[in-house]
Parts: sequence; structure tokens; C-alpha cells
Amino acid sequence: MVVNIREEQQTGLSGKSANSALLALCVAMLCAAVLLIVVQFLSLRQSFIEDMQVQGRIVSSNITAAIVFRDVKTATETLAALNASSSIAAAAIFIEPGPAFAYYSRGKGNALQAPTPALMLNGHEFHWNYLDLVQTAELDGKPIAQVVMRASLDALYGRFSMYALITLCVIFASLGIGYLMVARMRQAVAQAEEHLTYLAHIDAVTGLPNRHAFNERLAHSLVTVARFGGQLELLLLDLDNFKAVNDSLGHNQGDQLLKAVGDRLSNSLRDADIVCRIGGDEFAMILQSRAGSRTGEAVAQKVILSLAAPFEIAEQEVFVTGSIGVSSSGDDRLSPLTLTRNADAAMYAAKAKGKNTYEIFRQEMNQHAKKRLALETSLRKAIQNNELSLCYQPKLLLRHNRIVGFEALLRWTNPQLGSVSPVEFIPIAEETGLINEIGMWVTRTVCMQVAVWEELGLRDFKVSINLSPRQTKNANLAEEIFAEIAAAGIDASRLELEITESQLMENVGTNIELLSQLRARGLRLSIDDFGTGYSSMAYLKRFPINELKIDRSFVRDIPGDGEDEAIITAIIALGHGLGLSVIAEGVETEQQMNFLRSVQCDSIQGYFLAKPMPAADVPGFLRKTHSQGKHA
Ligand code: C2E
Ligand code: MG
Ligand code: MG
Repeated sequence: MVVNIREEQQTGLSGKSANSALLALCVAMLCAAVLLIVVQFLSLRQSFIEDMQVQGRIVSSNITAAIVFRDVKTATETLAALNASSSIAAAAIFIEPGPAFAYYSRGKGNALQAPTPALMLNGHEFHWNYLDLVQTAELDGKPIAQVVMRASLDALYGRFSMYALITLCVIFASLGIGYLMVARMRQAVAQAEEHLTYLAHIDAVTGLPNRHAFNERLAHSLVTVARFGGQLELLLLDLDNFKAVNDSLGHNQGDQLLKAVGDRLSNSLRDADIVCRIGGDEFAMILQSRAGSRTGEAVAQKVILSLAAPFEIAEQEVFVTGSIGVSSSGDDRLSPLTLTRNADAAMYAAKAKGKNTYEIFRQEMNQHAKKRLALETSLRKAIQNNELSLCYQPKLLLRHNRIVGFEALLRWTNPQLGSVSPVEFIPIAEETGLINEIGMWVTRTVCMQVAVWEELGLRDFKVSINLSPRQTKNANLAEEIFAEIAAAGIDASRLELEITESQLMENVGTNIELLSQLRARGLRLSIDDFGTGYSSMAYLKRFPINELKIDRSFVRDIPGDGEDEAIITAIIALGHGLGLSVIAEGVETEQQMNFLRSVQCDSIQGYFLAKPMPAADVPGFLRKTHSQGKHA
């Protein structure tokens, strides 16, 4: 999909400030130019006057004798020498008021008068095209005559225009360079702004619009739909078990996979549709369609299908599925938030339905969300209110028909909500972090229960405890478990821990360390729900585990379902190959047990044997089973 996000910025603030900077620069340069030209003119004029004064002094000192002897001819010849100076247009010597004593003129029309008192006072007088200058000739300190000289200003103006021209050229060239620099700066700023806007809106891994851009586009699309009709459909896709895939592939390859998923989504949609990556493994698709059409559903099906084909990542085939929630703006004026929340609720419903599927939002789903909130509030008080209890479900070792263990399963009965399934409340406890407290309550209760049974002489079985993902992230978990074991005064070998396969693969390094600590002190370890996660065989070998527990989804349809039979046989072979024992859960019928026995499964657990029972029923159950040899 082509991404084009450049709507609101353009020149913006920096453009305006660059304009005013340029204007200020122009004004400053022009002022400087005017000042420079004026200064140049004044200094040229000053030096012109000084030149003239020098000439005047030379003339007045040379004519002293001619005046004393009233020698007009010599005086006229002395003045005629001024011919050498191209600026001097005329000169005259006045001894007394009236006509000049001697006179020189380069051309006609330069008649000189005897100096006026003002000219005498200032020494010179400027006219627009000539300068009159008076110099007093003296003899023994007494004035004997005035020499009046008239200089043409053509030369002065000629030099001045040349200087002014050069100054203006320099100023305009500087302005031109300044303008170019500002234009370049504006261009660079605009490019930088554009790049920043791009980064703020685009997800670097997939090149798709990110969550920020998604919010903007969703709001924008809703406005368009409200104005021009039609409806908006929102699809939220969350990849199933992506974390496990990411951990086993490594982050680089995980990123490649996300990019490839993004490409497939874009290819499954029309150009006008919008695909965004709004979180780690979450994508959103915004579709505009005709009112009442079910485009969203069709697209969801198409997307699920498009993800089904394997991805080629680092020369490996990788499979990934996704759960999609679809919500539609319909005729209602839904806010972006409601539309997103609805799609989110539908996506959770798709996950709950078993993943790799889609769900269309229905109002009940919101009810479900409200119920979740109510559950969460009540769960916070469950321990203090003594609402939690444990049931124990036996495990049978097929080879000896002997009960070798019990799995402790949590039960919650709330006065208002009734009995709530762990499938419902464990995920909430996980999300809220309550699981750490609940998990320790389970461990403590199991340890104390084992101690009670030991007092009754019931010793030859183990009790397993389920650990949830969040618990395994607690760095002190091993220490806390051993503290409970010590407090109850039992042996660690009486306990077994069950960790689900997907949970194990989520954080391989830390889990290996945790399991090694637990195993080193005598606890048994079992991988729960095996076959549903994304185990890498290489990792499996490295985990210090004792047992694989085949997920009950594989057991349900045996005997009869060839595929499940093959999977079970393969898991048993794999487990035995790695030196592990294998147990099957969810065994409900004798046929299932017989099949499992025939393929050398070590143990079974399930309703066929017994449903989870209260601790008080365990001694009676053990007595009855061993005396009857029921499952032989
Ligand atoms: P799980 O660890 O896989 O436990 C087995 C579940 O299968 C239990 O459901 C059990 O009652 C049920 N089950 C046993 N035999 C059969 C059978 O023959 N048929 C069928 N259909 N189901 C059978 P339950 O007790 O509802 O627990 C569900 C899940 O909740 C457990 O799955 C476990 O993941 C979690 N859970 C239960 N107790 C705890 C706990 O104390 N801590 C944690 N972290 N999780 C727990
Ligand atoms: Mg379990
Ligand atoms: Mg299980």
C-alpha cells in the first residue's frame, strides 16, 4: 500500500520565520548600502575639496609677486597653468571689489564673481554641478587678494557613481547569496519536518502506518463515511503465539516475519483500504464499504487463508496464524474508540474460540468485558475471603496400574458469581499480576496438604502444581517455593511443577535457569499441554524436564482419528527418545486408555479415572483404587 502522509505540515512555522529572517536581512543590507554610499560620497567630497584647496594654495602663493607689481600677464599665465587640472573650470583673482584682476576659464559660461561674504566665511560653496572655492593670497601675513576657483563636479560624480555601483553590486550579490542560503535552509527544514512526520507515522519494521497514524486515519475515515455515506469496518488481527515464534526464531527473523505478514495483509486488501501495525504482533485494517455489506467478514476470511501458507524466513518454513476481530460502524455514529474497543472484544472472542479464526463483534461481547471487570474486582478479595480451594485429580501409571500422582487444580467459588472456572479467572489473575499471590497460596496449600497426607501415611505419590507464565518471570520464584516446602517440613521430591509448552518457549534462557534450580533441589518438572505450543526440538533437549503431558485436544478423538493417533505416537516416541516419561491428559474412556497403553504411553489422567476431587476424598479414593485394582 502506498503511504502518503504529508497533509498537515508543509511550510509551517519554520517557513514563516525563514521569510521574516529574509526580509530583515534585506532591510538591513539596504540600510547598510545607503549608509555606505552616503559615507563614500562625503569622503569623496572631502578629498575633492582638499585637492582644490591645495591647488588654491599653490596658485595664491605663486601670484604674490604678480599682484604686488600689478602684473596681469604673469597672473593670467599662473592661472592658465590650472589647465593641467581637468576639474578646474575657471579661476579668477580679485584684488578689490569689482572686475577680476586676472581670469582663467576652460570654456564659456563660467563667469566668476568676487567672493561673497558667505563664501569668504566657509572657504567653499557647493552647487549641484560645481564647487566654488576661495583662497586668500597673503603677503607678510596680510591679505592682498582672493583667488576664486570653480571646479566642475563631473569627475567627483563619475568616481562616486562607480563606487556606488560597486557597493550596490556587492550588496545585491550578498542578498542573492543570502536568499539562496535561506531557500536552501527552508528546503532542508521542510525535508527534515517531512522525515520526522514520516517517522512519527510509520512503523520501521513493516513500513506500514503505526498506531499513531492508525488513530488519525480511523478518525478521518469515520468523518468521510459520516459525510459521504457507506460504513467503516475495522479488523484487528493479533498473531497467535507470535512471542513463542519470535523467541525461537530470534528477533531479526521475527521482524522479517512481521514484515512478511504486513505484505500479505496489504496484498489481501484493495488499494483504498488501510493496513497498520498497531502493536508488537497486532495489525489493524480499515475498510470503507457500502452500508450493510459484509466486506469485513470476507476480508477476515481472506486474511486467515492468506496466512495459512508457510513463510520462508532465513531458509526455514515458518507457520503463523492470527485471530481477527471485526467491528463495523454500521449506521451508528461510533467513535473511533468504540469501534476499536468493539473490534478488540471480537478479537478476544476469536482467541477464546481457539485462535486462527475471526469473530464479528456482537453486543454480548461487551457484556463479556463487563463480566471480566466484575471477576477481576472479586478475584482481588478471593484469598482473604477464603473463596479459593484446591481439587486433586489423580494420575495413573499404566504399567503398574498404580496412582502415582495428583494434579492440584484451583477452584474459586464466589457468593455472587458462583463457581468460576480457572480457564476464566487464571488469565485475569495473569493480566492483573494477582497470579503471583494466588500461585503462592496454591503452593503453600499443596505443601501443607502433602504434610497432612504424610501424617496419614500417604506418601507414595507426587502432587503437581500448575505454574503460570507470569509466575515464571518472578526471579525469586524458586526461593519462594523452597521456603514453602521447608515451612511445611516436606521433601521437595514430593512435588512436581507443570509449565505449559508455549510458556516455556516464551523465554527460553531464563526458563532453563529457573528449571535447573528447581530440578537441582529435587522437584519434578512436566511440560503441560504438550503439542499445542511451538517447541523447538533443539530447546526441548536443553530443558531439564522429566515429563511431557500430551494435551487433551489430541486425546479427545482417539481411537479413530488417524492424525491424532499419529501425533500421540510421535510425541511418545520423542519423549522416550529424550529419556522423558509421557502422560496423556483428558482421558475419558476405556478405549482411549487402551489405545494409549498400546502405544506405550506411561501414564494417564482424566475423567475416566476420576474427576478432580477435594483433598478430603483423596485417602478414600486411594484406598478404593488400590484395593479394587479397577484399571487393570
Ligand atoms: P491443565 O493444567 O491442563 O489442567 C487440566 C484441566 O483439564 C483441568 O481443568 C481438569 O479439570 C481438566 N480435565 C481433567 N480431566 C479431564 C477430562 O477427562 N476431560 C476434560 N474435558 N477435562 C479434563 P480445570 O481444572 O478447569 O483447569 C483448567 C486449567 O486452568 C488448567 O489446565 C491450568 O492451565 C489452569 N489451572 C488450574 N489450576 C491452576 C493453578 O493452580 N495454577 C495455575 N497457574 N493454573 C491453574
Ligand atoms: Mg496442568
Ligand atoms: Mg493441560
